[in-house]
Order: sequence, then structure tokens, then C-alpha cells
Amino acid sequence: KLSLKNVVKRFGDKTVCNGISLDVEEGQMVCLIGASGGGKSTLLRCINLLENIEDGEIFLDGEDIAIPGLNPQPVRRRIGMVFQSFNLFPHMTAAENVMLAPRRVYKRSRDDLRPEITELFTRFGLAEHMNHYPDQLSGGQQQRVAIVRALAMKPEVMLFDEITSALDPQLVGEVLDVLRLLKGSGMTMVLATHEMGFAREAADKVCFLKDGKIIEEAPAKTLFDAPQHPDTQAFLARAL
Ligand code: ATP
Ligand code: MG
Repeated sequence: KLSLKNVVKRFGDKTVCNGISLDVEEGQMVCLIGASGGGKSTLLRCINLLENIEDGEIFLDGEDIAIPGLNPQPVRRRIGMVFQSFNLFPHMTAAENVMLAPRRVYKRSRDDLRPEITELFTRFGLAEHMNHYPDQLSGGQQQRVAIVRALAMKPEVMLFDEITSALDPQLVGEVLDVLRLLKGSGMTMVLATHEMGFAREAADKVCFLKDGKIIEEAPAKTLFDAPQHPDTQAFLARAL
């Protein structure tokens, strides 16, 4: 379980996360929605300790992980993150990209990793692409490899920041299918997304962010069908 208590993040004198509290139960998918600049990406980066927070607490299974001065690396291994730009290494095959972190961090050999990596590629419909280089793959395939790369570290929680935003529309579906599959396997996930249809259908909970605050938080269907706050109503009227 992931639990945020009054998280505050500032850049200079600009407060980008202004006291955000959020509970993500085990196996839940929570979607963050809202207009550009609302603080979705920054919040995800704070959870993964890519940003230091000014105030508040972030608990992972009851343990406060956002303690200033603590080495963030062990926490980052427990929380996988996938970005809009997939950033695969172009000179490595898909399989080499995926094996890199577990080889370096856990000192595991390729032979030792091969069975579980093959299983991951197979599960996500990428078995025939293991030995392909990124430029031999479509954008959707590359993004699925990037997800597999994060999963290879066996994270407890996965964070996704607009992972379909850079894709051609016809490739979005295959990446969303991977998210559905992951949810089916019980993964705990937090997504920043502009895919309102997907959020409504697949999320357990949706949070509408504006100016660094969660303005409204509700089960997906409730938030989309009966938004309570005028700001949520105005945003959805424009987005849907
Ligand atoms: P989008 O939908 O466009 O992805 P977002 O909700 O993810 O938006 P953020 O990227 O978290 O929003 O940005 C929130 C605010 O924080 C913006 O005003 C942005 O300019 C500011 N910001 C983000 N990163 C930095 C930084 N490193 N330094 C200064 N300001 C930043
Ligand atoms: Mg963003």
C-alpha cells in the first residue's frame, strides 16, 4: 500500500504539490487527471524520490520512504516508473535493455535472468521481439518493452506518466492493454493520464488535480458521471 500524507513540493517560491494526501491500496489502479501544469508528473516524481519533498510523508507498506538524506536507490527498486519517452538504449536489443538493471543492481547473470525475462516478453506479446533493436520496433512495442524493463526489477508499485501521449493513436490501444493485464495480475499502479475513456473504465479511483491540490477524488465512474466540484465539471466538459 502506498500512502501520501500532506506532501508539499516547491520549485523556488512556486508550490507545485500543495499538501497532497492519497491512499493507493494494494492492487488498485489510481489515475491522476487534470489540466497541464496541475502537478501530476511532479507528484509521481516525488513518489519515486526523483524529487525531494519539502513537507509531508510518503509511506510504502507503512514505511516512511521520503526521509531527507536517505539513499533513494533501494526505494526506487521497489517502485517502477515509466515515462512518455521510453528511452530504450538504441545500441542494445530489447532483451539486453530489460536485463541491464537486474544485471547491474542484483548482479545476476544473463543465463539466470533469461527464463523470467522470456516469460515477461511472452506475457506482454513481445516474445518475437526480444532480440530486436529499438529502431526495429514500433512506438507501441518500444513502450511495452519499457514497461517490461521496469517490471524486470519486480517492483511493488508502478508509476506511469502519460505513457501513451507520444504514440500514434493506433498504437495507444496495445499499451493500454498492457496496463489492463498488469492490473489483472494485481499490480498496484498510479497513472497520470489524458486517456479519459481508459481511466473511467479501468481505474479504481480517479483524482482530479489542479494547482497542486487534489480537488476531487472518487471511484472512476462517480467522478466521470457525477463530478461534484465545479473545476472538475469544467475540466471534464472540455476533455470529454
Ligand atoms: P502535464 O499535464 O502538462 O504533464 P502536470 O500536471 O504533469 O502537467 P507538472 O509537470 O507536474 O504538471 O508541473 C507542475 C508545475 O510545476 C508546472 O507549473 C511546472 O512548470 C512546474 N515545474 C515542474 N518541474 C519543474 C522544475 N524542475 N522546476 C521548476 N518548475 C517546475
Ligand atoms: Mg505531466
